[in-house]
Amino acid sequence: MRADLYWFARCNSRVHGAHDTALRIVESITLNYVTSVVVNRVTCRGTSPGTRESRRTALSAVPREGGVMIEPISRRRLLRSLAAGVPAVAAGGFRDVAVVHGQAARTSELERLRIDGGRLRSQIEALSAFGRPPGGDFSAGVSRVAYSDADIAGRAYVMDRMREAGLSPRIDPAGNIFGRRKGLTPGLPILFGSHIDSVPSGGNFDGDLGVLAAIEAVRTLNAHGIYTTHPLEVVVWAHEEGGTFPNGLNGSRAVAGRLIQGELEHSWNGLLKKDGIRRIGGDPDRIHEARHERGWFHCYFELHIEQGPVLERDGVSIGVVEGIVAIARYRATIKGVANHAGTTAMADRQDALVAASQLVLAVRDVVTAEPGRQVGTVGRIDVSPNAANVVPGSATLSIELRDLSEATLTRLADAITLRANAIARDNRTAIEIAPVGGYAGATADRDMQAIVSRAADVLNVASERLPSGAGHDAQMMAPLGPMGMIFTPSIAGISHSPEERTSWEDCARGADVLLQAILAADHTTF
Ligand SMILES: [Zn+2]
Repeated sequence: MRADLYWFARCNSRVHGAHDTALRIVESITLNYVTSVVVNRVTCRGTSPGTRESRRTALSAVPREGGVMIEPISRRRLLRSLAAGVPAVAAGGFRDVAVVHGQAARTSELERLRIDGGRLRSQIEALSAFGRPPGGDFSAGVSRVAYSDADIAGRAYVMDRMREAGLSPRIDPAGNIFGRRKGLTPGLPILFGSHIDSVPSGGNFDGDLGVLAAIEAVRTLNAHGIYTTHPLEVVVWAHEEGGTFPNGLNGSRAVAGRLIQGELEHSWNGLLKKDGIRRIGGDPDRIHEARHERGWFHCYFELHIEQGPVLERDGVSIGVVEGIVAIARYRATIKGVANHAGTTAMADRQDALVAASQLVLAVRDVVTAEPGRQVGTVGRIDVSPNAANVVPGSATLSIELRDLSEATLTRLADAITLRANAIARDNRTAIEIAPVGGYAGATADRDMQAIVSRAADVLNVASERLPSGAGHDAQMMAPLGPMGMIFTPSIAGISHSPEERTSWEDCARGADVLLQAILAADHTTF
């Protein structure tokens, strides 16, 4: 399949005239992803368009940098511009203008591109060494907690791989690493990546796959000399996991402008978060400068392991993520009366733990009472005085609800509160349920879902749509522009554990889908 494409090249460099510019475009386009190019017209003011010979000379010394802007243009606008005299379009003081007409690469050529699965594997294995338990091997997993020495060493390793791929890494004030590859136009970048920090005793695929596959995708384009219209921006988000400090998604939240008041003063293991950010090259005093507004990128992709059992159970290699579930968290406080375990008759007790136990079961009952993929968990309970010979006087427990629909969460929370009131009455206790935060859900853009799904089809790989029950940096990008996620199967559904695995074949398939999705998104208007 071929399509005619037109570009304007605008040049305001004193050194490089429009004919140089045209040749530069011709060179980059013919070498890369357009099969034929015609320079329709070169218009220069005060410069001769140059002889055939001088063009050839210019071609050999085409500048890589310079005051050149190239923008795609529709055939209609092009013809109108030519009729009006090309320089009229060269607004903004641009001195010379070149018009270039080309034909897009055959789609089949791009669809045959494949990443190097062996290289991807060896890099995942190499990254796993940073934070590996002493004396262990790959199967021992990794403890690469954010801001630790292992995190710093892992980031250095990744930045070296970025340099190899021609991406000059830069670190923003939140500690996020970015590396850009120029596009044929200076338009909005296609952003993609993940994170490399882990939970304590975590696995070697959570985050790492998405980061190293992103770099591998760029290397594949480099190897085939393919340039995208949009610039490509690889991102390594800082401190995704949380679980050490109270809040994760730290780097992506800073970019989305969703940091929480005072959180930079939080500490873990004696380290203040703000000092952690300094350790990885960020600047907490300027962290607000990491923020970006909506429309900052063309689109955002994240390849990640599923961290659940669905894809493996269904024998499917690629998950097209519909969205990331919203999380609502509550604290239930149950007040009874602490009393002597020997002298207080059963009928006289106001046992906070008995009430709490009933509430745990009520959460399960309410969540499973309606069809759907919603989940509810009581993961923590504190009892006071927590003594073997005292009737428990008070208890607090956590209630966490997750679903793609926030309306569902509200409905479940209301139902749980009703049940809690009844439990409190039955046990002559008081139960108070208070919200303690959570995360808004994020929907993957419909066009982005279609792109991922089609990318899997192109590769002849089975895919299915599913929600993400785990949180990801992608949910912070969703409000800023079109977001899409690609999942690969987690063997036995295990993650956040040294047992975490994705087959090497599925890692490569995921990276190939990422690459095809990037190429498709490059030509998509959202
Ligand atoms: Zn992750």
